[in-house]
Amino acid sequence: MSGANVPPVTSVAALYGIAHRIEADAAERYAMLADQMETHNNLDLARMFRDLARAERLHADKIRELAGAIGVGDDGGPIGPWKADSPESVDLYAARYDMSPHEALRMALAAEERALAFYTDLAASKVDRTVRDLATSFAAEEREHVALCHRLLERYPPASAARPGDPDAPGDR
Ligand code: ZN
Repeated sequence: MSGANVPPVTSVAALYGIAHRIEADAAERYAMLADQMETHNNLDLARMFRDLARAERLHADKIRELAGAIGVGDDGGPIGPWKADSPESVDLYAARYDMSPHEALRMALAAEERALAFYTDLAASKVDRTVRDLATSFAAEEREHVALCHRLLERYPPASAARPGDPDAPGDR
C-alpha cells in the first residue's frame, strides 16, 4: 500500500494543511475513544486517551503556528481529494459504543500507522528539502504514538476485552 494513498504534496503549504488535518483528526479520535472508555468505567485508559488527545491538539496548534501566514486551510482547502479520508481519521462507523479497550486501541493503532506511513512515504518521495525535513520530524512523532499503542495493547490483550459475568470489575465504587 506504500504511497498509494499519498496525495500530491508539492509544497510546504500543502503539507501544513494535510498535517494539521491529520493531527486535528487524531485529537478528535482520541477524545471520542476517551469518552467510550469512560462509559466502560475504564478510567485508566480514558485518561491515557485524553492525554493523547491533548498531545495531538498541541501538535495541530504547533503546525498552525509554524504555518503562520501560509495558513492550514481550515476547510480542508489544500487537502482536496483527501477531505473525507485523511490518514488519521477514524472510521466512526467502526467505533461501537461498547467497544472494548483492546478494540479501541487497535483502532487507534491503525490510524497512527496510517499517519506514520503517510509521513514516511512523503519523506522518501521526491519533494523539496523543507517538505522532506518536516515530514521526517512528523514521522518521528507518529512513530512514538505507534509504539505507545503497541505497549498499551500488551496491557489490554483481547482477553481483557470481553468479561461476561464480570461487568463491574474495573470500577472502584
Ligand atoms: Zn499520532
